[in-house]
Amino acid sequence: MSRLFFSATHKSSGKTTVTLGVAAALRARGLDVRTFKKGPDYIDPMWHARASGRACYNLDFNVQTRREILATFDRAAQGGQIALIEGNKGLHDGVDVEGSDSSAALAKLLRAPIVLVVDAFGMARGVAPLLRGYADFDPQAVIAGVILNRIGTERQGSKLRRAIEHYTDIPVLGAIGRDEGLGVRERHLGLTPPDETFEADAIVAAAREVVARSVDLDRLLAIARCAPAPTEGEGRPRLRRAADVRIAVAKDAAFGFYYADDLDAFAREGAKIVYFDALKDTDLPDCDGLFIGGGFPETHAAALSANSRLRARVREAIAAGLPTYAECGGMMYLSRAIEWRGERHEMVGAIPADARMYERPQGRGLVTLEETREFPWPTVGSAKTIPAHEFHYAGLENIAPEASFAYRVKRGHGVDGARDGLVWGPVLASFSHLRDTAANPWVRRFVERVRAGRAASRPSVASIAASIPAAKSSARVGEVYLVGAGPGDPELLTLRALRLMRKSDVVLYDRLADAGVMDMVPQSVERIYVGKRPNQHEVPQPEISALMVRLAKEGKRVLRLKGGDPFMFGRGGEEIEELVEHGIPFQVCPGVTAAAGASAYAGIPLTHRDHAQACIFVTGHGKNGYVDLDWNALVQPNQTVAVYMGLRNIEALTQEFIAKGAPADLPAAIVDNATRPNQRVIVGDLATLPEKARAADLRGPTILIIGRVVTLHEKLNRAADAQAAAPIVITADGLADEVCEA
Ligand code: SAH
Repeated sequence: MSRLFFSATHKSSGKTTVTLGVAAALRARGLDVRTFKKGPDYIDPMWHARASGRACYNLDFNVQTRREILATFDRAAQGGQIALIEGNKGLHDGVDVEGSDSSAALAKLLRAPIVLVVDAFGMARGVAPLLRGYADFDPQAVIAGVILNRIGTERQGSKLRRAIEHYTDIPVLGAIGRDEGLGVRERHLGLTPPDETFEADAIVAAAREVVARSVDLDRLLAIARCAPAPTEGEGRPRLRRAADVRIAVAKDAAFGFYYADDLDAFAREGAKIVYFDALKDTDLPDCDGLFIGGGFPETHAAALSANSRLRARVREAIAAGLPTYAECGGMMYLSRAIEWRGERHEMVGAIPADARMYERPQGRGLVTLEETREFPWPTVGSAKTIPAHEFHYAGLENIAPEASFAYRVKRGHGVDGARDGLVWGPVLASFSHLRDTAANPWVRRFVERVRAGRAASRPSVASIAASIPAAKSSARVGEVYLVGAGPGDPELLTLRALRLMRKSDVVLYDRLADAGVMDMVPQSVERIYVGKRPNQHEVPQPEISALMVRLAKEGKRVLRLKGGDPFMFGRGGEEIEELVEHGIPFQVCPGVTAAAGASAYAGIPLTHRDHAQACIFVTGHGKNGYVDLDWNALVQPNQTVAVYMGLRNIEALTQEFIAKGAPADLPAAIVDNATRPNQRVIVGDLATLPEKARAADLRGPTILIIGRVVTLHEKLNRAADAQAAAPIVITADGLADEVCEA
């Protein structure tokens, strides 16, 4: 396929404008033009895409192998008629003194003829030794032609031409006048992205006209056609899996820094991208994950802030666990606020930090990252050191001290010169920009994380387990903490439970874990819901156990949060047996069981010297109203029976009691939502309670207390007082010093 490599003697010679002008001019001739940009740049590719009408792909020695570069080129060029590759910096510039990462090296790799753009401002005959030097320096990097830019007068132009023709065999393909106004504004961050420039299309058109007028396009095409066959890349189309998750991506005037092949990778990994506009849309699209790349949130801060409905939606979705990835500008948007030029603009507030814009770049260039244990996505492959890049005038301030970081910064700046990749709840946010490659398949990892999150919100846990790669034998084995969360009131959590919560990586919970208790789980801990959903079946116990084993084998510290006490009708025993079988270390932390909570908060002591010398805990759960219990043992004088899961069978239970000789007027009570603000206590006796329960339309969970102790309720009930009392505020940050005044 025809191809051309546009490079220059030095930066800002006008090669971007020339490249996009050529792209637009060839497109205007009806050619299918494919464009490529060397390096990590996001802005030039946007202009190229505007000019060619197709996505522009980045080719980057820093993050891609040579094979990957060839493969990207092959894939993206396929079906096109001409490929235009724009270099970065000067032709021979790069990090490596031998030039292995230079534009010349890329041109050679792609076997693309080089067109050198020379800023000829103030030059005359001297252009000849300059070009001879370029030609001699690396004879394999053949300069197929030169385009002179910023020519002052026609006279200067012909002097330059004559000198070049006389001293070299490099053809002059064009000469562009100084006044020909290639008005792509230079701004504080390289070029302005086209979305922001009102007259973007006019600028592309201007570049096209200048090129059409001043460059010999036919000759350029002839050179492009002579390009030798490129070396084979990987070539094979990679398998694409059917999309089973949706990922919302912000794409608008404020956000747009996305690599074309990273976006392609989402489709390959089975994720459908749904774009939204952070400035205009008032709701997130229906999605399982969220990705916000870089851009210019600071120049759109007022508009982003004014869209408070979307900000609230994003905040809520993240609070509800939406797996989210944000880079640079995206991270700034997720922060509490952006401060710029003395103004503060409220942002989403999903991560505990403020963004501030500085006059000078805080980080620019290549970065090398090393993953920490806090990295929140499943591991695929082995790379733990990641090459990436950053370019930001922003810094993060007032970062919550309990925030953790996914990366150690080995080279570059990141958040503070040492860390990057803020991890907060389901969010990973960093200044560094990642590129999806074989060594760093971040898209696959993120999609797996999204998939796991989605699976967690459905009953099938098997798919989460499947999404977690098999543990490597060298991996550190994690632990499981089987923790009783108490019956509801977060204040009934033990201090040990709180401590274990703070050191875990992931929490598995169900609907018995009160929202207030979940609020105490630090934001950084991943949450997986394994409970029952309305109208759906319970997650089978073996799946939950298998998931715990998988996660622990992954090296995770897994918090299994159980309502009440884990060993009281909590299947804690079964889960522990499974862990023992797999040699997984565990700890069990007891909790206040529902009967104890109900008894305290409803003023019904379970034992009392006058009324009950024993208390039996029993399950009232049974199929079709039949409960297989030792009724003779239950129906005894001076004994309390606390029935868990008994509401559904209350009729059968009370009748059975009466049938086995209990008096019909034996006091009995139902405590619904014990210890919670909506606790209700229904008092009656064996004969009347079922009817009262029906009338009360209880939602549960409820516990049944049968025995004479129930008579004490009237005298001892102080639940209302307890609720009226000022609560001690416990948050993920710790025990608040102050006690809030109600
Ligand atoms: N391990 C838990 C019990 C799990 S079985 C514990 O020790 O409490 C689930 C049953 O517990 C529910 O059906 C209900 O009977 C009871 N339960 C749990 N929380 C409750 C609450 N806040 N109020 C009343 N009953 C509760």
